[in-house]
Order: sequence, then C-alpha cells, then structure tokens
Amino acid sequence: MFQKLSLLLLSLSVLLVPLRASAKLEVVATTPDLAVIARDVGGPDAHVVALALATQDPHFVDAKPHLALALSKANLLLLTGAGLEVGWLPTLLTGSRNADIQPGSAGYLDCSSLVQLLQVPTAPVDRSQGDIHPQGNPHFSYDPRRVEALAVGIGKRLAELDASHKAGYFARTKSFLEGLHAARIRWEARLAKARGQKIIAYHDSLPYLADWLGIEVVEHVEPKPGIPPNPSHIAHVLERARADKVRAIVQQAYYPSGTSKLIADKAGATFLQIPGNPDFAQNQTYNAYMDDVVAKLARALGV
Ligand SMILES: [Zn+2]
Repeated sequence: MFQKLSLLLLSLSVLLVPLRASAKLEVVATTPDLAVIARDVGGPDAHVVALALATQDPHFVDAKPHLALALSKANLLLLTGAGLEVGWLPTLLTGSRNADIQPGSAGYLDCSSLVQLLQVPTAPVDRSQGDIHPQGNPHFSYDPRRVEALAVGIGKRLAELDASHKAGYFARTKSFLEGLHAARIRWEARLAKARGQKIIAYHDSLPYLADWLGIEVVEHVEPKPGIPPNPSHIAHVLERARADKVRAIVQQAYYPSGTSKLIADKAGATFLQIPGNPDFAQNQTYNAYMDDVVAKLARALGV
C-alpha cells in the first residue's frame, strides 16, 4: 500500500516538475538578426529558430505551414515590429494556435519597443501609397548601439520566462555586451574617415547605420519604401548622385541590382551589396556579420 502510494507520489512529482527545468526554452525569432542575439544570450538554455532566411527580404516572407509549426511550439516570439512583419506574421501567428505568444502575452516581445526608432511619422501614413514603413523605420539592427538594447531586453525576457536559468541569461547578456562594445570601437575606428560621406541606398534600410557612423544617405532608388523605381525617379536619383558626388550605391543582396548598378556606372560611384541579415543557419554571430558589413563599406568608401 505504502509502496504503491509512494510510487504514485513519485510519478506525480515527475509530472509536476515544470517543463522549463528540464527542457530548453523554445524561442522563435522572425528575422535572423534577432535570432543570433537570442542564440548567444540564450546559450544552452534556449533553442532558437529564425523564420526568415538571411537571403530573404524580411518585409516579404512566404507564410509557409512549417513556419506556423515552429510558432506552435514556441515559448517566446521575438519580432522586429514597427510593421516589418505585418504582411506575413499575423497569418502565421493565428495558424500557430499558440496562446503563449499572442500579442500582449509574456511570450510576445516586440523588439521595436526596446530601441529608439527613427522616422516615426507624426501623422498617420496612408498605406495605399505603398509605404511599408508606416510606423517608423524597422531596420535598426545595423546600429550596434541599438543592438545593445536588444540584447538587454531579450536577456531580461528570457530570464522572466525561465527564472531557474536567470543567472545564465544575465551572464551571457553581459558577455555579449562586452564583446559587442569591443567590436564597436574597432568598427568605429575603421570607418572614422567615412564620416560625412554621401551614399545612396536602394531601400530605406540604412538610416540607423548612417546615424551611427555619421554617413549621409542622400537618396533612395525606391521612391518610397517598397515601391520599385520608375524612369523619372531613376533620372532624379542619378542627378542627385552626380550633384552630391555620391561614393556608393548600397543595397542588400535580395533587391534587384540592375538599376543600382546603372546609376553607379553613370555617376562614377561604387555599387555595393551588403548582407541584410546575419547567416543564422551557418552559425554566424552578430559581430561576424557586422565585421563583413563594415569591411565591405570601408572598401566601397575608400577608407
Ligand atoms: Zn524596409
């Protein structure tokens, strides 16, 4: 009798052990930039998945069923926010049927709330005009100073959801910040002479990079974020490139390159492709990704 009771209690206690104590926290990030930060800060206590690939435009990701499946198992969803994923995440989130990661719950972290956004409109933006940045610019992970804030916010949320591993999350956040700070000093030194230089970007994705490095983005090949260029706008951009003696036309590899190359050729500028996101699938870290961005930028700007 006693034996049976103790067996029963034993099996009950096994059942009552919270999932967190034994299993890893399941973290799903919409974009690879957030995923690489979460992977470093989460360490062995978190299993991190990225929905978008580094080679995909994060504004436009196919809402495929396997992405909803990943979300269905998540304890924490990290999204960029500011409307970046508005075209594809809501469908997936509904499809996930996971109450833990819906907006407003502890498992939902809108990372745009962690940083100071640029280009936040003061009046409502008419989306019929096609502007895909209606809530401010979402491309903030090109600024390592803002990435510091992201790491702190992500670390805190991981610790809240998985309190038994709090010390580990905080220790790894600290070491992430130390590594990032040292790298930032190196990147800033490498690009110090680029300060004041003028560039043109294909998409309006570089204001945070420009803000950080003191570079000026004088024009965009897209007339509005998300709107492909038309001939009259291309002529205007070319004129601007010549008048401002622009050094480089910069874009992510997932945008069509023909127009940017044409403008670069005619204006005597360098055409430069930079990665739009770290290669999460190949275990690239944020620092290795930015090493690449900074090296490419330095070469193109001749510094
Ligand atoms: Zn954008």
